[in-house]
Amino acid sequence: MKEPKLNPLRTYRKTGFLIDMDGVIYRGAQVIPGAQKFIATLKERSIPFLFLTNNSRFTQREMVIKLRRIGIKVEEHHIFTSAMATAEFLASQKPHGTAYVLGEGGLVFSLNEHGYAIAEHDPDYVVVGEGRSLTLEMVERAIDFVLEGAKLIATNLDPAPRIKGWMKPGTGAIIAMLEEATGKKAFSVGKPSPVMMRAARKYLQLETAETVMIGDTMETDILGGVQMGYRTILVLSGSATRATLGNFAFRPDLLVNSISDIPLEVFMKGDVPPAKRPARRGEAPRRARR
Ligand SMILES: [Mg+2]
Repeated sequence: MKEPKLNPLRTYRKTGFLIDMDGVIYRGAQVIPGAQKFIATLKERSIPFLFLTNNSRFTQREMVIKLRRIGIKVEEHHIFTSAMATAEFLASQKPHGTAYVLGEGGLVFSLNEHGYAIAEHDPDYVVVGEGRSLTLEMVERAIDFVLEGAKLIATNLDPAPRIKGWMKPGTGAIIAMLEEATGKKAFSVGKPSPVMMRAARKYLQLETAETVMIGDTMETDILGGVQMGYRTILVLSGSATRATLGNFAFRPDLLVNSISDIPLEVFMKGDVPPAKRPARRGEAPRRARR
């Protein structure tokens, strides 16, 4: 009798998590209850995970220190930012290029690390990330560079929260201004772009069916995960609310109030439904489990 063929996915199935930060493990300076325990459990059980943030402002080291302050002990290799994804992407598109940057330390550091020089004249790219150091003079120079042929790159296009008193207009708002002024469309690397979503999975050495994205924002985390065929978990501890879920044509696989409600043991037993196959034309999307 022939030996049955081993299905490597089934036999050695592992699960790894891509975890958004703001709204999932902390809100402002406050840790979300249960986040420390969730991360400690992942580490104890050697479950691969990566914090995936569209915030390009900080370096890996700075993020590690920020997390330690709220009781989450991780290493630099647990952090993957849109600044890192952007620098990696540009280095693959045009090695040793030059960039004019509207952004801060994390972005400049990542670009330098990937062989990029920061240029004040004739840059290959204008790269825009999150930050508070922007001046109108910098915006004007960026506009001139783009009009002269520099390509416009966004680390991310996160929607501005549109809340009075909110201190961050968001990279999306800065990009909207530059696009309007230049008539050029920016290319965005951060979530939900497949560029960052795929780079993060590869960074963890996971297969598509092994990857789970946890996030609080439908437009970035969940959309990015859905597009890649990853399983997705939406937490309601951040920007998304139950009331606004109906506005989207896609759904997460699992909806929980917070990270502490994620049934980790279910994932570890391998009982979780496999990543979705692409929907056929005219087929209704699968309902989220409640
Ligand atoms: Mg978030």
